[in-house]
Amino acid sequence: MVNSKIQAAEENLIHVYNRFPIALDHGEGMYIYDTEGKEYLDFAAGFAVTGLGYNNRELNEALKAQIDKLYHISNLYYHESCGEAAKELNRVSGMDRVFFTNSGGEAIEGALKSARRYAYTKQSGRYEFIAMENSFHGRTFGAVSVTGHEAYREPFEPLVPGVKFAKFNDLDSVKALVNDKTCAIILEPLQGEGGINLATQEFMEGIRAICDENDILMICDEVQCGMGRTGSMFAWQGFGVKPDIMTMAKAIGNGIPVGAFAMTEKVAEYSLKPGDHGATYGGNPLACTAVKKVLEIFERDDIVGHVNKVAPYLTAKLDELVEEFDCVVQRKGKGLMQGLEISRPLAEVNNRAIEEGLLVIQAHGNVIRFVPPLIVEEKHIDEMAEKMRRILRQ
Ligand SMILES: *Cc1c(COP(=O)(O)O)cnc(C)c1O
Repeated sequence: MVNSKIQAAEENLIHVYNRFPIALDHGEGMYIYDTEGKEYLDFAAGFAVTGLGYNNRELNEALKAQIDKLYHISNLYYHESCGEAAKELNRVSGMDRVFFTNSGGEAIEGALKSARRYAYTKQSGRYEFIAMENSFHGRTFGAVSVTGHEAYREPFEPLVPGVKFAKFNDLDSVKALVNDKTCAIILEPLQGEGGINLATQEFMEGIRAICDENDILMICDEVQCGMGRTGSMFAWQGFGVKPDIMTMAKAIGNGIPVGAFAMTEKVAEYSLKPGDHGATYGGNPLACTAVKKVLEIFERDDIVGHVNKVAPYLTAKLDELVEEFDCVVQRKGKGLMQGLEISRPLAEVNNRAIEEGLLVIQAHGNVIRFVPPLIVEEKHIDEMAEKMRRILRQ
């Protein structure tokens, strides 16, 4: 199976990914095809990115048209779609001010800087961050500093100082870390990489209360769980617990590299000022066209409504697998961001999945993650479940 394209990659790239020996070529809807023509049913969406699936003609046309006009200018000027993309993203996210980045990690950097800048203006002397065990916020220095996995942090120490880790869904462990130096509390409402762990209502409300009582900022990392995946446009909306700062990326451009951090007016008033932050590519015409078009399609086609319609079917089919197989311990998650905890080595399951033509991803805690494009239909879920049966039977 190892062809010349794979060989060139093996010989020239820095090896930081455990890649499967396949080279993907093109996609259509819920399916991707490799260079040998083999079909894969996609329940990974390129790490929860391609919410609208592959080869969406409308999005493609909008991007192509923008490429022919202009795809980069400096941020010293406005362009046609930066205002509209920002306005729409603020409207659906409930935030007031947004900054466009090129990735999720960069969005986290911006969020952390925004919180520090808020404390600096207020001269509160607050600089510490409380993050969660099992969290994942990215690979850049600030992001890895608040990521709750020792293995990701240790080789790169010393990291950003002033970070403490609390137990996810354990309010007392958060309270024990709060002091007059605490600047912000950062969490994913539904942890992805960390094993598909959903925050409890009580935990979300408790964090909000701690923040309100102490003028601490609540940062929700919606990079993975946002954009409709949990059955609301952003996961915090499902709890009715609004953060002060939030981060987005992955699905907001359907794969065009774009992320964002956003804040309420209350934070913006004291936070970043001209000269405090920037990104050469951030919010370029192509990225903003992607965000604008993706949001337009989301609303017109009621993608969130579709997620709520189809998610119970995914839940039911995954529950069947829990019933049928001893090696499937439990189902976790919500909406179209779910996982199965398996008692067998995940690598085995993953390799078998590739053989069966199914793309899934691993998460911590021996969990197989199911994060399909949000356009998934019941027939695709049936097809996935049948493939999973064949995979688990062996
Ligand atoms: C993927 C991810 C990030 C990092 O995003 P990148 O675009 O890879 O930098 C941050 N937070 C969460 C929750 C993520 O899932």
